[in-house]
Amino acid sequence: MKFDTIVSHAGLCSDEKTGSISTPIYQTATFRHVALGVSTGFDYTRTSNPTRKVLEDVIAKLEEGDGGFAFASGMASINAIIMMFSSNSHFIISDDLYGGTYRIFEKNFKQFGIEASFIDTTNINEIKNNIRQNTKAIFIETPSNPIMKITDLEEVNKIAKQNNLIFIVDNTFMTPALQKPIKFGADIVIHSGTKYLAGHNDVLCGFIVTRTKELSEKIGFIQNSIGGVLSPMDSFLTLRGIKTLSIRIERQEKNAIKIVEFLQNHKNIKEVFYPGIKNYSGYEINKKQSLGFGGMISFKVKDSILVEKIINNVKVISFAESLGGVESLITFPMKQTHADIPDEIKQKIGITDDLLRLSVGIEDDRDLIEDLNNVLS
Ligand SMILES: *Cc1c(COP(=O)(O)O)cnc(C)c1O
Repeated sequence: MKFDTIVSHAGLCSDEKTGSISTPIYQTATFRHVALGVSTGFDYTRTSNPTRKVLEDVIAKLEEGDGGFAFASGMASINAIIMMFSSNSHFIISDDLYGGTYRIFEKNFKQFGIEASFIDTTNINEIKNNIRQNTKAIFIETPSNPIMKITDLEEVNKIAKQNNLIFIVDNTFMTPALQKPIKFGADIVIHSGTKYLAGHNDVLCGFIVTRTKELSEKIGFIQNSIGGVLSPMDSFLTLRGIKTLSIRIERQEKNAIKIVEFLQNHKNIKEVFYPGIKNYSGYEINKKQSLGFGGMISFKVKDSILVEKIINNVKVISFAESLGGVESLITFPMKQTHADIPDEIKQKIGITDDLLRLSVGIEDDRDLIEDLNNVLS
């Protein structure tokens, strides 16, 4: 089956007895055993739940991995991944990435002896130069959040395999509709399913997808032992959201391309960050490894005074954190998503007081452009 069919049939006809078209919500904590040593395959919902299992199989299929695991949030899934490593492990991580990922390494796991180097992973030599004796993994985002920098999946995979490192990709921005890191050798893909996969700004969700059986066993063990799993109801909502993933992304990208064109021609815009811009650095690499550019745009305004005017006055677009939903959202990374990153690092990677991030929704693009035009003039 082709990708769009798998997506639209997410969870279809799983209940053969009743013929139910949508997957039922198995709102149960535990399961009755027929006899001693006999199980239906389900024992306790932390370990496994039928609604969650359907969703986990869908995400594994979409990412073309071995196993899928659903968690209560993107951060819960990142937490589970770090749990695979012992103290004195060192990670190489993209310097420009989700602020919460920076925070969990620097504020939560440092005390357990997990070290992290935040570097520009678009520069392959910088990765090579930062590998230490105890380096165990490379963790990247491409495009990165919020500067939309592109890292070459194939090249990073080569280094990872040569050095026996686990290669982890946060694929939240692209989703498997546009990019499948496991095809390029990534060992683990993670998602904030809260964003494009669920897609409606109404549920928190996280995913891990593994490339090998061995990794699936490790993550499955961790998922069961630490918990943090996605509830049956939220599994249902995420399945429901995924059904429209393909058409949502198509529309979001179409709208984004039009907005980028508008922004590039506006006198009060200094710079636009979007991998669909022809002379954009990383354009060719992104084209090689993905099917499109997605619906995320970052931009810098000519004068930072405009920032407050924009976020206080948008009417069609909402000033809110998060991304990937049907409603367009605008974010001020410096004070919101990336607030926990120290100022000197923010300055170095370009998260400045004139930078805004726009998650483009599925509205009529003319309303979005008019909204931006009103607040930019
Ligand atoms: C939002 C986000 C996360 C964290 O996910 P939550 O669901 O909010 O816990 C991780 N990575 C990226 C790229 C994100 O945008």
